[in-house]
Amino acid sequence: MTKQKVPEEIWRQVDAVIAKSNKFTITSHVNPDGDAVGSELALYNYLLWRNKEVKIINNNPLPVVFNFLVDSLEVFGVFDDDRKTFQDWINKSDVIFILDISNPDRLSRMNDCVTGSAAYKICIDHHEGNDLFADLNIINVSACATAELLYEALTVLDYDIDIRTATALYVAILTDTASFTHPNTSESAHHIASKLLGLGVKPGEIHKKVYETNTWKRTDLLQRALSGLKSECNGKLTWMKITGKMIAATGAMLEELEGFVDFSLTIIGVEFSILFLEVPGKGTKISLRSKEFLNVHEFAKQFGGGGHKHAAGIRLYDVEIDNAIKQVIEKARGIFEE
Ligand code: 5GP
Ligand code: MN
Repeated sequence: MTKQKVPEEIWRQVDAVIAKSNKFTITSHVNPDGDAVGSELALYNYLLWRNKEVKIINNNPLPVVFNFLVDSLEVFGVFDDDRKTFQDWINKSDVIFILDISNPDRLSRMNDCVTGSAAYKICIDHHEGNDLFADLNIINVSACATAELLYEALTVLDYDIDIRTATALYVAILTDTASFTHPNTSESAHHIASKLLGLGVKPGEIHKKVYETNTWKRTDLLQRALSGLKSECNGKLTWMKITGKMIAATGAMLEELEGFVDFSLTIIGVEFSILFLEVPGKGTKISLRSKEFLNVHEFAKQFGGGGHKHAAGIRLYDVEIDNAIKQVIEKARGIFEE
């Protein structure tokens, strides 16, 4: 199947905006993942190469496993660390690039500042149901990662991709396809990976840095979470719960939860896997994964969330965890009981 690509003309339009602008902000979603930070870094390197003033500003710090992507953590500005400076930068920016986001709510604490800025806003994304909230929206849901779109852009714009940028793009595609295993692992995911390997990326070394960094704290948490793993609907639906107490008792970091929800999906017969995370005082965060037929983006929409067909999320700020479990599991059971 040939998939639709973003027309080159659109990237030339972006090029024209860049050419006439000087000050840039790059941002992405709350709790950035590998695709968010890899895409940001690729664009950051490109804009620096074009001699632009640019800052990456996110709600949260760079997850520790991705520290190896940069020489200095200062590259990744954290909004709350110096709000005044960052607000000022965002307000004075000519252009704000908003990456890997389908809905401005995903900007979390930065939402008001970013959407309120007079800057020209360009959203580059691959999620289902993008709200088209920016001035220029470059969306391709068939892209395996936002980084696939960035790779296409840099190629069209004749950027000589350096090894640091290649590594950032590779990490983004690697993590958003869950090591080239999720259903979004397309021909182009492998094609781009092959091009990046040609530029010197070392997949074995990167795999070690990104995935072989398990800690005892994380393992302790996984053990506790798995001991409460529930199976319903003849084993088609599984869910687990992680409370604030469990996190505190193990000392694991929130970013270390990556991969937990995918684990139970590997059990034979499981179609739908859900993880409920208690965010003390701030409700519940829910991760959803499906194997084949089930569109979890559509499921998440019922609760104001979204994402992709096989990986989506919901954020219920005012619903405590047991109540969230009750509501969401009731709806999930309905799928298999129909
Ligand atoms: P995760 O479960 O790994 O946090 O997220 C899975 C996918 O769903 C990601 O692509 C993420 O961007 C998206 N996602 C997670 N939470 C939300 C949410 O609250 N709203 C929307 N629209 N998307 C979400
Ligand atoms: Mn992504």
